[in-house]
Amino acid sequence: MLQVQDLTTSYGPVKALDGVSFEAPRGKITAVLGANGAGKTTLLRTVSGLIRPARGAAYLEGADLTRTPAEAMPGLGLSHVPEGRGVITELTVEENLRLGGLARADRSRPADLERVYTLFPVLSDRRRALAHVLSGGERQMLVIGRALMATPKVLLLDEPSLGLAPRIVAQIFDLLRGLVESDGLTVVLVEQNARSALSIADFGVVLNLGRLIVHDDAATLAADEKLRHAYLGF
Ligand code: ATP
Repeated sequence: MLQVQDLTTSYGPVKALDGVSFEAPRGKITAVLGANGAGKTTLLRTVSGLIRPARGAAYLEGADLTRTPAEAMPGLGLSHVPEGRGVITELTVEENLRLGGLARADRSRPADLERVYTLFPVLSDRRRALAHVLSGGERQMLVIGRALMATPKVLLLDEPSLGLAPRIVAQIFDLLRGLVESDGLTVVLVEQNARSALSIADFGVVLNLGRLIVHDDAATLAADEKLRHAYLGF
């Protein structure tokens, strides 16, 4: 589904990604893991067209995403939820969600909104509340919900668990699991929290200093004690 080929990205003299290749299959969760500075965020930003790679490409159904302007991504079926849970705090929950729908070529339908509310009942309860009153977990749900309003085929998620209580992380991860199983959504999940990410992912990619160390199924990675100690911090 999503093919990353020989992706190489530099910030001036710093090579943040160096010849990274892997495939994220349709209807599966692929976790991208590694320590601080491994290149995880750079990978997502390059795949979604925010940074141009020095070399390589990322293909979604044949289209090279790295040669596509970021604003054209939703039309191709790619949504990127960056780190940091950016919501427009002066707008209501529902207004934030509707903004996500604007990215759709064919305009959002009421059914999309209802679907997000079914997935995240807490957002439905707070649909008229200003986004600035939401908790961290609710904001994370809002940014994921907003991305889903564009009805993506591939969802890139950067560190959704950061700073959230384990119970909330489990809730969000369960929901992602449900989405890939029921809708065939393809998820690429960047996480520092490797243990939790591998518990819901199908596959994992481990990066270190911009290079791909290993790409395997999640259970195999989680069982590899040497790898866990060397790169995954658990
Ligand atoms: P983190 O979890 O800390 O975000 P990461 O695995 O996502 O780490 P990146 O943020 O992709 O890693 O960073 C990869 C490398 O690129 C690091 O050495 C980082 O210092 C460098 N880097 C990232 N962004 C920039 C930038 N805008 N300018 C210069 N160097 C950068």
